[in-house]
Amino acid sequence: MKSVLVCITSFFLWSCSDGNLPLEKSLLEADIGALVKSTLSVESDSVNICQEIAFESLVKDTIRLANGLQLSKVNEQYVCGDILLSDKQVELLAKKNVSRGVSISELSQIWQDKVVYFVFASNVSLEDQNIIYDAMYEWESACNILFRVGQGSGDYIEFIIGNGSYSNLGRIGGKQTLSLSIAGWNKGTVMHELGHALGMLHEHQHPMRDNYIIVNERNIQIPARDQFDIWPYGYASSKFDFDSIMMYGSYAYSRNNQPTMTKKDGTTWTANRSYITFNDQLVVMNLYGHYLPPGPIG
Ligand SMILES: [Zn+2]
Repeated sequence: MKSVLVCITSFFLWSCSDGNLPLEKSLLEADIGALVKSTLSVESDSVNICQEIAFESLVKDTIRLANGLQLSKVNEQYVCGDILLSDKQVELLAKKNVSRGVSISELSQIWQDKVVYFVFASNVSLEDQNIIYDAMYEWESACNILFRVGQGSGDYIEFIIGNGSYSNLGRIGGKQTLSLSIAGWNKGTVMHELGHALGMLHEHQHPMRDNYIIVNERNIQIPARDQFDIWPYGYASSKFDFDSIMMYGSYAYSRNNQPTMTKKDGTTWTANRSYITFNDQLVVMNLYGHYLPPGPIG
């Protein structure tokens, strides 16, 4: 199993011109034009966490939507951390006052008949494939989701070993890429990225997160600040789950070894990349139409 303790990446940001943005000016505005150089390092609170970020070695633009939400953009691709977003998804995110029920289904397109088709790129070894299969099995066991080799009716995931660990949010139509970083990844990385591919967002960006955690902005590496915004839409559970497979750890993207997030009482937590929680199950099953009521099964 592959793992990495430290990933060092030079990461530059600069302002982008409006002419480069496909969305209307009313939706987007250029961010402050400061050139920033920083160093991204793996979360320091757990050796089991590999860096989950897209295109880790590439220069990114920081953009701010009209409603204040920050995203990154690289090679015409919108990104928030390790989540790739389509232009349509960014347009939805940029809208204010979208009803929550509509935005969940529109933002995260689910997989038809609860079957996720996939193929492996040529640089994914048999050993890598076995780890990926193990991660798929975790989701299949937890939720009524199936993963099948092939291209299905044309919507499918291609697994690659690439420049960062990342995934699209839900099914975007046609081929989409799920990358596992050449710098290091493990089964927990795959479980997390598959969560995004199924339509899940980061737990620490949940609309209710401020009721449970304190975000320490001054401790966050500047290029990573867009990953700590609250996302106003797209959550299929009203609960907040510290153990979610989609939750960052307290020290994620710290620039000074101080926690970027704490609980209300000041204590910290470690990110879980080992198992899918009951609330993770609820989120996916709510998205895919198999609501699982709280409490013991059977
Ligand atoms: Zn993620």
